[in-house]
Amino acid sequence: MARTKLCTYMDMDFLKEPHYTAVQEQFDEVAELMKLDQNIRVRLRVPDRAFIIHVPIRMEDNIVRVVQGFRVQHNDTLGPFKGGIRYAPDVNLGEVASMAMLMTWKCALMGLPLGGAKGGICVDPTKMSRLELQRMTRRYTSELVSMIGPNQDIPAPDMGTNEQTMAWIMDTYSQAKGYAVHGVVTGKPISIGGSLGRTEATGRGVAYTVMEAAKYLEIPLGDAVSVAIQGFGNVGTHAAVKLSKIGCRITHLSDVSGGYLNPKGIDIELAMNYAKEHGNLKGFPGADTCSQIDVLTANADIVIPAATASQITKEVAEKMRCRILAEGANNPTTPEGDQILRERQNEIFVIPDILANAGGVTVSYFEWVQGLQNFFWSSKEVNRELAKIMTKAFQEVLTFHKERKVYMRIAAQMLAVNRVATAMLARGLYP
Ligand code: GLU
Repeated sequence: MARTKLCTYMDMDFLKEPHYTAVQEQFDEVAELMKLDQNIRVRLRVPDRAFIIHVPIRMEDNIVRVVQGFRVQHNDTLGPFKGGIRYAPDVNLGEVASMAMLMTWKCALMGLPLGGAKGGICVDPTKMSRLELQRMTRRYTSELVSMIGPNQDIPAPDMGTNEQTMAWIMDTYSQAKGYAVHGVVTGKPISIGGSLGRTEATGRGVAYTVMEAAKYLEIPLGDAVSVAIQGFGNVGTHAAVKLSKIGCRITHLSDVSGGYLNPKGIDIELAMNYAKEHGNLKGFPGADTCSQIDVLTANADIVIPAATASQITKEVAEKMRCRILAEGANNPTTPEGDQILRERQNEIFVIPDILANAGGVTVSYFEWVQGLQNFFWSSKEVNRELAKIMTKAFQEVLTFHKERKVYMRIAAQMLAVNRVATAMLARGLYP
């Protein structure tokens, strides 16, 4: 019995994979609306490069398994490629490529001098030992040594990876170079040049955009406001912490074990401690149980999908009852779900993923800058600068949405694509 699920997705024609066709169709719509130069359009529809790596790992039982890994570099016009690496059982080349494209838009939207990339390995990291994970990470990194680097392509954590993974990547890369190269990854431990506030950054950033949206919609944030969060990992947890700190009631939560609800508000610290001790929220005494879908369709003012992709389907979108939907996850809405959300945009205000969850890559940028200068900031400074960038980007998207009367997701992408396209036109085409 294989202990890690091997990826069966071998189709090289990943451009036909549904996640990829979805982002490509969205890009086509954006390109059409903004009358994007045709020569730029054909280049941005596809990633610059995509690597497929068959990673051999010697498992604890001494048997060698081979798993599939990817790194897709979409565009580096604005700066080095940037994006996370995810370990998940359903990772495939098309999905990774779709998220690489979204990273290009995300970085451009936030005004960061970075391009877009994404990586992944098709495994279930929860079924692997620490030693197996370390061996796999190191082998995957060594295969990528010539493709990544602080001026070239800078990985970061994503689903199923964390600061320990980044430390192994940094160490493996440094061994190959013969000297310590801290800047090859972001999201590293503080002890090797990580930034304060990086772990919390994505969730915090989600909360900042929710605060801006609430201001715009004239919803005073406080005890009267209820929040439902799908996913209690890094993003969901820190969004919950920040929103409950400013007085909101987190009425619904979910994780792999199911959904949890408490109309009076779930004690987040208690839930965090419980999940840490038990691995997940199963049996959590501070809430009643409900289904995971109930969390997305909850009668809450704010809903935050912060789990995996494609959760908001047509059926879910039709049943949603919130006023603000802040996409903490990457690509949480299917194209059919998005069509419904677009029709319901006067009822449900959507903060699209490339805006709502951009806090992570923004503090990654701060980490990269701090490392280059060897001058490190306090967490107060990190959070202040993060709030500044998130607020500015939110206001830019909102203004564009109002002035041009386009859906928030399209507004965000039009702004982002325009920045990349302007830079591409300035640089021209080689040769
Ligand atoms: N994985 C995160 C994202 O999807 C962070 C990427 C980064 O920091 O480079 O935005």
